[in-house]
Amino acid sequence: MSLIAVDGRTVRRRLDDRAEVVVIGSGPAGATVAADLARAGVAVIVVEEGHHHPPTTFPASGVRAMAQLYRDMGTSLAFGNLSMPYLQGRAVGGTSVINGAICWRLPPEVLAAWATDDPALADALPPEVIAAHEARLEARLGVHPTPAELAGAKNLLLARGAAVTEVAHRAIRRNVDGCVGSGRCLQGCPHGAKLSMERTLLPDAVAAGARILAGLRAERIVVERGRAVGVRGTTAAGAPFAIEATVAVVLAASAIQTPCLLRQSGLGHGPVGDGLSAHPGVSVTGRFDEPVTSWRGATQGHEVTGYRELGIKLEALGMDLGLVASRVPGVGAGFARRLAELDRYAVWGAAIRAGARGRVRPGRRRPLVTYSLTPDDVRKARRGVRLLCEQLLAAGAREVYPGIAGYDPVVHDRAELPRLEREAPLTPSAYSMSMTHLFGTARMGSDPARSVVRPDFRHHATAGLYVADSSVFPSNTGVNPMIAIMALAARCAERVLAAR
Ligand SMILES: Cc1cc2nc3c(=O)[nH]c(=O)nc-3n(C[C@H](O)[C@H](O)[C@H](O)COP(=O)(O)OP(=O)(O)OC[C@H]3O[C@@H](n4cnc5c(N)ncnc54)[C@H](O)[C@@H]3O)c2cc1C
Ligand code: SF4
Repeated sequence: MSLIAVDGRTVRRRLDDRAEVVVIGSGPAGATVAADLARAGVAVIVVEEGHHHPPTTFPASGVRAMAQLYRDMGTSLAFGNLSMPYLQGRAVGGTSVINGAICWRLPPEVLAAWATDDPALADALPPEVIAAHEARLEARLGVHPTPAELAGAKNLLLARGAAVTEVAHRAIRRNVDGCVGSGRCLQGCPHGAKLSMERTLLPDAVAAGARILAGLRAERIVVERGRAVGVRGTTAAGAPFAIEATVAVVLAASAIQTPCLLRQSGLGHGPVGDGLSAHPGVSVTGRFDEPVTSWRGATQGHEVTGYRELGIKLEALGMDLGLVASRVPGVGAGFARRLAELDRYAVWGAAIRAGARGRVRPGRRRPLVTYSLTPDDVRKARRGVRLLCEQLLAAGAREVYPGIAGYDPVVHDRAELPRLEREAPLTPSAYSMSMTHLFGTARMGSDPARSVVRPDFRHHATAGLYVADSSVFPSNTGVNPMIAIMALAARCAERVLAAR
């Protein structure tokens, strides 16, 4: 059975269709809602702007993968006290197609903090219900710890550094089956081993009767007499489309596109587009005497969890040769010498649980995203760089490149690191950072003045309209969010069914 019912690239005349529930977006949130509703007998249409790309078409080059699979070809930027790229997938399967396959459940302390802030969320998101969804979804996605034989040197070296520094660490739990450690998760798995949405929940949804309309960009939610009754937009070939929803419209277009769709549709109720929170990331490169071949082994197979209380989580990164080269400092002969030894480098990253809150607004061609780090976030980024340097040097790196503008480009000794944390600049733009985890732009809550959707995921002001993605999260989580997003989306599907 074909995964796609309609390919918008071939639709040149007006398209009209109808379903009980229209889901916008086919990433982890949309795929979960579609699968759960279709299995319960609901007629579902999924509208997805991106296209379906089979594994054999995924390029080895990071730059080509960005052009094919990433929104804005990977050039989406947030503006503020530093210009920070934010990355998103645009494909059938959403960002799961190009993510690192790292799986974490929603930390209990995060859920508890949400309930303390708004007691209605304690009833709406019972921990045992969320945990049951997480367990079911993890089983479907084959989540398991990365075996040592697949990890490759870049991951095993992080384990070595963490053992030397005596900090908690572990093999990353990943959603893969048949992974051969080709290190290409961020370009799309060419072996079909990453169990992303287009290989799992979207086929489940289609098998249960859902239809996926790819290459269709939703531009407006149609509201009549205070109720969402459908979606309008344009196909990739330029024709208009209109899809009627007799029960509900579910927004699952991500924490950037969902608030834009709401505002574009005249649904500016509450703090829609405000409160963007994230886990900005910094990275450090280290040069080893032994081969690392950081493009081999599970893309991200090991993590340091012992600094989570500081709001910092360290991970090994896997990237193609071109991107590793871009992390090497220097000029002239010294640079050429370093480039000749690209197989000796490891690049590790620190994700920061930032306190910053940004803003998303629809723009003429792409969303306008503003996001400025707080002074405390910058201090955390600096500490993250220090901790990464420490792990790399403890693991045996001969030299490390902190990548902080205005500070020494190369550090050789762990004894130099306290100075880095004292003296490296605290100017935000001195840090090279990017964001991949985004939350909070249509947050959930009981107070219509402080939130956009109710605790049951329904829009405060519009009947039949639900938000299922991480826009509803009241805060960031400090861990990789895909499984938590899916668990909350499953809860959203339960609420849609209950209201049907
Ligand atoms: C490089 C990278 C690596 C990551 N690694 C991990 C990881 O290892 N583990 C983890 O837990 N998380 C990871 N993440 C984050 C995780 O993948 C996302 O948080 C998650 O995919 C978000 O799910 P979503 O369904 O809300 O949105 P998305 O997955 O972004 O899906 C939204 C979909 O909606 C579509 N869409 C948007 N607007 C419209 C419109 N107007 N009309 C039609 N369709 C539309 C988009 O094209 C997209 O396909 C990573 C992210 C990136 C960028
Ligand atoms: S490491 Fe390679 S084989 Fe394994 S899931 Fe990622 S891309 Fe696929």
